Amino acid sequence: VVQTKNERSKHVVHLSAECYPVAKVGGLGDVVGALPRYLQRAGFRVWVVMPWYNKPFVREHDFEVTYTGHFRQGSRQLEVQIHKERRNLLGFELYLIKIPGLIDRDEPYGYADESEQFMAFQHGFLHWITDAGIKPDVVHCHDHHTGLIPFLMYHSERFSALREVPTVGTVHNGQYQGWMEWNKAILLPPFDTWKWGLLDWDGVINPLGALIKCCTAYTTVSEGYLNELMIQANGLERLFEMERAKGVGIVNGIDPSVWDPEHDPMLEHRYGAGDVQYGKERNKVSLCERFGLDTAKPLLAYIGRFAGEKGADILPQIIENIMGGGDVGLNMMILGSGDTQMEEEITHLAEKYPEKVAVHIGYQEELSHRIYAAADFLIMPSRVEPCGLNQLYSMRYGTIPIVRATGGLKDTVLDMDEPQGYGILFPEASADDAVQAVYRALELYAQRRRMEQLREQLMALDFSWDKSAAKYIEIYQNIIA
Ligand code: ADP
Repeated sequence: VVQTKNERSKHVVHLSAECYPVAKVGGLGDVVGALPRYLQRAGFRVWVVMPWYNKPFVREHDFEVTYTGHFRQGSRQLEVQIHKERRNLLGFELYLIKIPGLIDRDEPYGYADESEQFMAFQHGFLHWITDAGIKPDVVHCHDHHTGLIPFLMYHSERFSALREVPTVGTVHNGQYQGWMEWNKAILLPPFDTWKWGLLDWDGVINPLGALIKCCTAYTTVSEGYLNELMIQANGLERLFEMERAKGVGIVNGIDPSVWDPEHDPMLEHRYGAGDVQYGKERNKVSLCERFGLDTAKPLLAYIGRFAGEKGADILPQIIENIMGGGDVGLNMMILGSGDTQMEEEITHLAEKYPEKVAVHIGYQEELSHRIYAAADFLIMPSRVEPCGLNQLYSMRYGTIPIVRATGGLKDTVLDMDEPQGYGILFPEASADDAVQAVYRALELYAQRRRMEQLREQLMALDFSWDKSAAKYIEIYQNIIA
């Protein structure tokens, strides 16, 4: 799918609230940090446009202001500045939108005026490219934070220059939709009132819904999730069903420049498929010594946000069921943060079983790499999992995934009892099912040869971006034509 030299490179603009390594909260950041580089390599001219954050990457790298303009949002006069990263360090062109007073903060999410913030980000983008006469071949919007863009491009007079430009919407997480009361409509530029229905869902403005209604094509981050959204989508099920014809499920890939145990600078001991047993052992010893765990026992890890969708609320019960009885010979390492009650319960259990359970509350990129490398098993009791990257990373590091059979987890993990299988699946997001699965893992651990063979098998699996990027390219080619 590489384009010929004399054809003008097609210009694709990705809009996202996160992009690793500039700012990452979860999988969205990983995807937008990697996919654009693969598209650029395939011959596209790719821009990533994201909000400006007060983050180390932004402070420490070289940016130039390439555009300044003004626009009105409701009663506020706003200034928009475009900061371009000068050297294309990430393998694509990176543009940050700064809007003093709204888009100039430390973190991507969690502010009371979030609706105004993301509205301003989207307006700022559209004012910039229309004023500067930029007309991309495709505008690609990620999640609800950028969900109003297709609507504004196609239905607001102010941005009519972009009316012919096709748009793609990608749903990384359908649980969050960016709901806004209708009184926020005064923040939008004028449009024909009969078009209100395109923004509305159940009496509020629903940016994710507007994205799905107005985009030319949409994608979800796995095929399983594409189908699940018609059954479970926080109120948008009927919409996903109606718009199904323009949806495609594309599973995320792994970026080997960040996730490769052979070259990972964050690891204490690097290893490849050839020395996976020894390599993992050494990483495990380092990690267990640091957290006061027995290095001789199998190590089960959890990494992720403490949220109901991740099933983090059943972790305490899982721990109690396993550790509370006798000694089953297992240690656990948990890295995560989120819901304060879950944080407290999990911390309490680590105090109750200090030699068996270790917890780090917080977000720590380096520690996450070290845990993927050190653990024997990684558990994901998710209720909802659009794609899930943790299981992909764990497999890349030779760690056996124990996952609830849902969404992207079901699409990427094949149970070890199946022919060619390599992981452990369990049916429900319940402590009972999860504990059963952990006991299967312990039986497996006792069979040393089988364990070794599975690790080698895992490390040889191909979850590269090349395959997935080709599917996005196919969509672009269809909608550009
Ligand atoms: P989601 O985006 O729903 O949180 P994903 O599985 O798609 O879930 O992506 C999670 C990403 O965030 C992975 O890269 C994972 O390693 C990382 N991550 C989650 N929590 C933490 C944490 N506390 N510290 C470091 N990395 C984390």
